[in-house]
Amino acid sequence: MAEKLVIVGAGVAGVNAATKLVDNGFPGKNITIIDMGKSPYERKPEEVMTGFLGAGGWSDGKLTYHTAIGGHMSKYCGEDKAMELFDEVINNFKRFHPKPEEVQCSDPQAEPDFIKPYFGLRLFPVWHVGTDYLHEIGKNWYDYLVDKGVKFVWETKVTAIDFDNQEVYCNWNTPKETIKYDRLMFAVGKSGIDFGKQLADEYTLPTEPKPVQIGVRFEAPQKHFQKLIDISYDFKLYRKFEEKGVSLRSFCTNNNAAYVAVEQTYGDHSYNGHAKKDEAYRNDMTNFGILMEIQGIENPFEWSRDVVQKLQKDGTGLYYSPTREPSQTSEGDGVSAYKIDSLHKTTKVMQPYFWYILDFIEDMKKVFPTLKDDWGIYIPEVKYLSPEPLVDYNNLSLAEYGNVHFVGDALSARGITVSGAQGTYVAEWMLGEVVEEEYPEFFENY
Ligand SMILES: Cc1cc2nc3c(=O)[nH]c(=O)nc-3n(C[C@H](O)[C@H](O)[C@H](O)COP(=O)(O)OP(=O)(O)OC[C@H]3O[C@@H](n4cnc5c(N)ncnc54)[C@H](O)[C@@H]3O)c2cc1C
Repeated sequence: MAEKLVIVGAGVAGVNAATKLVDNGFPGKNITIIDMGKSPYERKPEEVMTGFLGAGGWSDGKLTYHTAIGGHMSKYCGEDKAMELFDEVINNFKRFHPKPEEVQCSDPQAEPDFIKPYFGLRLFPVWHVGTDYLHEIGKNWYDYLVDKGVKFVWETKVTAIDFDNQEVYCNWNTPKETIKYDRLMFAVGKSGIDFGKQLADEYTLPTEPKPVQIGVRFEAPQKHFQKLIDISYDFKLYRKFEEKGVSLRSFCTNNNAAYVAVEQTYGDHSYNGHAKKDEAYRNDMTNFGILMEIQGIENPFEWSRDVVQKLQKDGTGLYYSPTREPSQTSEGDGVSAYKIDSLHKTTKVMQPYFWYILDFIEDMKKVFPTLKDDWGIYIPEVKYLSPEPLVDYNNLSLAEYGNVHFVGDALSARGITVSGAQGTYVAEWMLGEVVEEEYPEFFENY
């Protein structure tokens, strides 16, 4: 008998792993996927993070195709292997796509001269699957796995895992609801960030140091940036101060119908952005994060939490602009933010780093001359990176528990392609581990 694999999380990583396995003869009946969300037939649009394909199921459907974007896949397996794994993930999205010919790759090449003196512009290929098709892709993909015998357990939250006795506890730890495994894949994505931390604390898992990622959400009328948007819709400006351990980048650019969104994390407000597809929402604004990645802060999580807490006023985050007011959400309410007239306190709280952001804005004013003072910033934007457990680079398993593999955003993958690639990578390792004499039935198809 092939071993029994339990995958916690039916997201991009878990689903790609299962697909790689059954495609190569691993018996589907030996794979159980547990998810707190719903099947693609039941999942509602507002269930953004949970269910079949996880956060990828209702995402923007942009599959980045470069090892410099997202988590560091090449750190585990090298550049060539990483690209090969990315291809497999992209092919899966095409394979279950109702109109695969519509999956197109955009590959902007030339870095424009007007950017060069001040910023680097990261240009990289992106495969566009189309948000509108993700639901159909999900159904086709799910049907394939079910046909192959993969068992899905929906609307079931895994609340604890006993690594020593090899069992997972579901829904409030009732003894009845434990599931045994020989091998476990922990693929809970961002929605399981707290669970990952819980396990890391409980088993005192050694973790990789993570840098702080903090900054502001910048907003301005789109017209000022149009020249760059025409070259790269989702542009990424960056600059590095290597000797200071600081790098800055514009993050997650939204255009056309672009809205600033309030995120509530650990009870505090921070900011993000999103773009609506429907023309009715068009507001001709652009927003993006200006995020600093800061190395060398001893307790990055605690440091970020403390900074975010200090940047709250009257139960919300802050807004600063030389000329503008906070804008509206897509629902027509004002974006929740306390307007401040000076950046003095922000600079103090984020010292010595906030100057890098002000400098970034000053240089944008030079590159985009019409911008002048026609902008505003929502403070703060923050990415709490999940503690990344130290894993064996050959198979992403925990040092002390070789049959427990962390994949996807649970291992700081940051994105669909890298998450799927990590799942595929572990599945491939599992396939390589199967010894023909031990599991003759596994090879009967060959
Ligand atoms: C709105 C939005 C848009 C995005 N757009 C893009 C994009 O265009 N391109 C891109 O590359 N990335 C995008 N992302 C990020 C991308 O979706 C994720 O990086 C990717 O889905 C991570 O894959 P994953 O398998 O690690 O986790 P997920 O896909 O998030 O899946 C994790 C699954 O685990 C389940 N789960 C969590 N905890 C438990 C538990 N305790 N018990 C049972 N089940 C559990 C969840 O229900 C979920 O289904 C977007 C994310 C969001 C939220």
